[in-house]
Amino acid sequence: MTLETKLCPLGCSPNEILILTGEDLLHNIPGKFPVVKCLTCGLVRTDPRPSPEAIGFYYPDSYGPYSGTRITDGKGEAGRKTRWHHLLRRFADFRTNSIPPLPPGRMLEIGCASGSFLHRMASEGWSVTGIELSEHAAAAARSLGFPVYAGKVESVPEPSEPYDLVVGWMVLEHLHDPVDTLEQIRKWVRPGGWLAISTPDISAVEFRLFKERWYALHLPNHLFHFSRGTITKVLQKGGWDVKKIMGQRVITNILGSIGLVLLKGCPDSKLGRLFLSLPTAGLWLNVILYPVSCVMARLGQTGCMTVWAQRP
Ligand SMILES: [Zn+2]
Repeated sequence: MTLETKLCPLGCSPNEILILTGEDLLHNIPGKFPVVKCLTCGLVRTDPRPSPEAIGFYYPDSYGPYSGTRITDGKGEAGRKTRWHHLLRRFADFRTNSIPPLPPGRMLEIGCASGSFLHRMASEGWSVTGIELSEHAAAAARSLGFPVYAGKVESVPEPSEPYDLVVGWMVLEHLHDPVDTLEQIRKWVRPGGWLAISTPDISAVEFRLFKERWYALHLPNHLFHFSRGTITKVLQKGGWDVKKIMGQRVITNILGSIGLVLLKGCPDSKLGRLFLSLPTAGLWLNVILYPVSCVMARLGQTGCMTVWAQRP
């Protein structure tokens, strides 16, 4: 696989330290990936990393987000199950993908996967558009009736009218040039318009505790590993004013990390497999854990954050 090495996107001179070397623990695709920290600005990144041409290799069609957000028509036995699933999904969105309080307008979602968030926002009166790298997932979102561009953000034509809100849930850490992309989408938003994103948060103690076995590290798909401080710097460099940073009310990250630690000691551990499955299979579990998640989020210790920023 083709790897590339890049300088810090905040324009710092080369001055890094290696903080860990990790592997792809979710799909077990071979390779070792160093994670370095820029000593000038503190931004942590995967370096060397898969090049833009090679990164697709690390996104098999089984990649979780492509299938996990599928919406069906909601009829019959499967439909009843789906309606419960919808309610749980709405609950999940409420805890993680929150947007600033705004009247419905024009929204763009970057990395819309199979379209569940587009669906939710459209049902609340928003005019929605999506961008999705996977043609397979984009087709699923289009089948719901939404305009979705399949491809990279950089290749999408400028919108005919500016957006009021752009969202990107767990997207920024996957981008090769987050600052360039943030500058580009700022031009697509009206002055005073909003950006709402989410990303893992390495400020949390769990990152220091689990290190290369941290569930949200997600190598080599995550090219950047932001803290509250560095996400603020990257957004500012991209021309955005950060207005609010919130801990997400989800702690299944920690359970997934425990699974990865157990599997390191014993690759056949059934308990390890069980823990590892909880972050994606555990919607009910999230309901049960919600009170604990709220406390942890207030302490900034859930390992994931939602950030609201505004175009000046
Ligand atoms: Zn730097």
